[in-house]
Amino acid sequence: MIICPVCKTENQHLAINCSQCGGYIQQKIETLDLFSIAWLLIENPKKAFHRIAIATHKNYITFLSAIAGIGLLFSSFWFYKIGDHISSLLQLLGIGISGGLIFGNIFMLLLSIIVWLILKIEKRSVKFRQVFAVSAYSSIPIIISVIVLLPIEILTFGTYYFATNPSPYLLKPFSYIVLLGLDLLFGLWSLILLLIGINKLRDGGWIRALIIEIVSLGILLSCIHYCFTNLVNHIYGS
Ligand SMILES: [Zn+2]
Repeated sequence: MIICPVCKTENQHLAINCSQCGGYIQQKIETLDLFSIAWLLIENPKKAFHRIAIATHKNYITFLSAIAGIGLLFSSFWFYKIGDHISSLLQLLGIGISGGLIFGNIFMLLLSIIVWLILKIEKRSVKFRQVFAVSAYSSIPIIISVIVLLPIEILTFGTYYFATNPSPYLLKPFSYIVLLGLDLLFGLWSLILLLIGINKLRDGGWIRALIIEIVSLGILLSCIHYCFTNLVNHIYGS
């Protein structure tokens, strides 16, 4: 809550203007600068999400979702061992990159819808765009892994990184464990950012924020799992 300095009305913590007198109760932010907000997400994620939530223009959210989508789709390739079905590296890269750009936006959109609906049920006055922006900016660690780790994984293992036969662990155990470990760390970092973001949108309550995050991702990943297994069975036979 923010108390208006002029009329003493209590306002929602993400409000820019007082709901009673219309006066400014916190500094307005027009646009988000990608690099300074990415840096702030590392330095002070709470402050960063506050800026993201109150910014008038939520820049880069489609772009961020698209790049994160590449990371999410290649993680699915690893999880579902797509390398066992696709042996051409060029084909795998083509599907992963072009599909990822679309997949990322569908993923962020659905995730934001679920989180937003839960917040609505809780009677929080949060806008959908705020949830979408928080979700998209939470994926910055995944984007870093797409830029830094994914090329190394592909240069080291090719399609074998996403396959079981032969297992990448047997090919280069040390590289595989290190790369997989780093991938998991970047994923975990994104999950922590999303938690901080949801907590910011709700104005406190870590346990509730964590439950909302787990429930939302649980619903979304179950749906994706259902679609993926059906799609893989449909294309390659069970
Ligand atoms: Zn006021």
